[in-house]
Amino acid sequence: MDFTLSPAQAALQERATAAGAEFRDACGAWDLADEAPYREIFDRMGELGFFGLTMPSEFGGQDLSALDYLIATTAIFRASQTWLCCEPLFCTTGPGPSMIMLGDEGVREKYLPDIVAGRRGCNIALTEPNAGSALTHLSTTAKRDGDDYIVTGSKSYVTGAVVNDLHAVFVRFDDIPGAKGVGALVLEDRMEGVRVERGPRFVGDRGIPHGDLFLDEVRVPAENLIIGPGQFARLMSAFNMERLHNCAFWLGSSLAAYDEAAKHVQQREAFDRPLVEFQAVYHDLANMWTQIEALRLLATQAAATAKDGKYPDLHMVTMAKLFGATVGPQITLKSMELHGGVGVTLDAPIQRIHRDAISNVVAGGAPAVLRNGIAAGLFPGRRFPQTR
Ligand SMILES: Cc1cc2nc3c(=O)[nH]c(=O)nc-3n(C[C@H](O)[C@H](O)[C@H](O)COP(=O)(O)OP(=O)(O)OC[C@H]3O[C@@H](n4cnc5c(N)ncnc54)[C@H](O)[C@@H]3O)c2cc1C
Repeated sequence: MDFTLSPAQAALQERATAAGAEFRDACGAWDLADEAPYREIFDRMGELGFFGLTMPSEFGGQDLSALDYLIATTAIFRASQTWLCCEPLFCTTGPGPSMIMLGDEGVREKYLPDIVAGRRGCNIALTEPNAGSALTHLSTTAKRDGDDYIVTGSKSYVTGAVVNDLHAVFVRFDDIPGAKGVGALVLEDRMEGVRVERGPRFVGDRGIPHGDLFLDEVRVPAENLIIGPGQFARLMSAFNMERLHNCAFWLGSSLAAYDEAAKHVQQREAFDRPLVEFQAVYHDLANMWTQIEALRLLATQAAATAKDGKYPDLHMVTMAKLFGATVGPQITLKSMELHGGVGVTLDAPIQRIHRDAISNVVAGGAPAVLRNGIAAGLFPGRRFPQTR
């Protein structure tokens, strides 16, 4: 088993590091203002060749692997120290386009070329005010009416909803209860009855708002169907690209927190010695790096399970994401502690990296819910029903 990056992967990582570094100095101001020049960032990442990494070339993609996606996004997270610079990769490759790939030719031809080329952004809208972890209990409905579906409901915390005009929306078809009734459709801002509002402000992941969608009897052409009822597991297989993106976030932000700590403890002195010379400090750095390497192995293994155009294996990618959400905030908090008082000043990158980390703990699936899924994989003969 060889863990060395191929020359092409090493070159991709180098390019991604250089791309991320272009934005590092600006991201503190975007965070404080909760405003960022998103279109500019998006276009620049396209110019640098980071659109549609794993999408097939027939739709304008680069035919790269899920592992390449992990390598590129991790490097951009690390070098840019912001989640924003990876959004263009997420939108043109991540769960939105990956789910549309599961649809029939009509929906693929209609949307994928524009999405992959970055002409139109696509986010994913699952969460509702009364159904986050309880995804299988969502209440946004889609009812067939002639050649259309009529969609009614609302969605919360949708990353990119305010800046993207396409939404891959999870709906319940024909009032079929539970997971069996859940599928997805593509909705557009311009459809009558779609309203997008800036949602509540987050403590981290700032720079563009996480929006709320309000859907009032929206008439959606049947050709916009991604997946209908009865195929929930298939729909969620493409959602594993979201979990891989989460893994890249944890790996990249943990590396950024390590970088900041390593720099600070070599510059700052106490008792006439650089901080790094105290055993308690270099042991902390050794622990951080060991956690990072363990996370890298889990995430790499998860990405490597995606073969022949498939998505990462659910069990592997869920464990990698859970491990990231467990050690990631520990690493960023430890780095902040090693900075001393300066670590909690608003000019210090580490406080932002830590706020981003705690904001991501439940994004894409809360740790307890991930554990439910992992346990279900460990005991395939048993059921762990969450409903009363
Ligand atoms: C930064 C960020 C970005 C996001 N982006 C998007 C997006 O782009 N699109 C989108 O649709 N959503 C998005 N979300 C929403 C996110 O997916 C949900 O917040 C998440 O799934 C948790 O749902 P909830 O907030 O309703 O928490 P709840 O479901 O209320 O859960 C709260 C807690 O209750 C416990 N819990 C709940 N159910 C169980 C159970 N069955 N077993 C054990 N414990 C349980 C867990 O401890 C859990 O953390 C985002 C959220 C954040 C923070």
